Amino acid sequence: MQPIIILMGAPGSGKGTQAKLIAKAYNYGHISTGELLRGLEQEKPNDPKIEGVFADMKKGVLVPDWLIYDLAFKEMDKYLAKGQGVVLDGAIRNLEQAKAYQEYFLTKGLQLTDILVLEVSITEGESIDRLTKRRTCSDCGEIIPWSSDTKSITTCPRCGGELLTRQDDNIVTIKARIEEQGNEVLKPLVGYYQQLGVFAAVDGMQSIEEVWRQVDVMLKK
Ligand code: AMP
Repeated sequence: MQPIIILMGAPGSGKGTQAKLIAKAYNYGHISTGELLRGLEQEKPNDPKIEGVFADMKKGVLVPDWLIYDLAFKEMDKYLAKGQGVVLDGAIRNLEQAKAYQEYFLTKGLQLTDILVLEVSITEGESIDRLTKRRTCSDCGEIIPWSSDTKSITTCPRCGGELLTRQDDNIVTIKARIEEQGNEVLKPLVGYYQQLGVFAAVDGMQSIEEVWRQVDVMLKK
């Protein structure tokens, strides 16, 4: 199995859920740049360079690339130094980022054969439906996707915290996120990774269990 698994997909595609399943099954480090950014916000940093970044996140706008590299490369360094693989969750959302990560991988001696890019694909309508229904733990940030199994859960299954709707999971921001981070925007990225010969896609419209079954088969190839 490749040491670097890159998960991409429109907001609400389930890439975060699959990333967690991969990390758990294979003891990989899970790097979600969204979570890293929300963690940074909690620290209330007094840094003029990132002024406006958290407001942008709440509007569904992408944050500056340099901040993503700052957060994600540091995390990746830690896992790779321990010899652990890494699953990147939403950490690459435009072509510039994809190229910068490729350069980073080269500096770590990682080849194309060490990388697998998986797109979890869903329709725009499904993105909207899922994001308006999912909930997030106000304490630990765990995201609880909506499903027949989770719809009646009232507290976080991980820490018992209160479940709320994430600030950017409102219809105005969801539409902005789809515009900024949806299937159309991902197309050049898909083309780039297809050309590198490292791309595969899974149909994210299926149940979490079925998507995971198919992802696991792809990982074991
Ligand atoms: P997520 O939790 O993955 O939905 O990400 C939440 C927000 O963080 C996004 O709407 C963006 O504003 C920001 N973000 C996360 N990852 C990236 C990235 N790779 N590039 C730019 N912005 C990002």
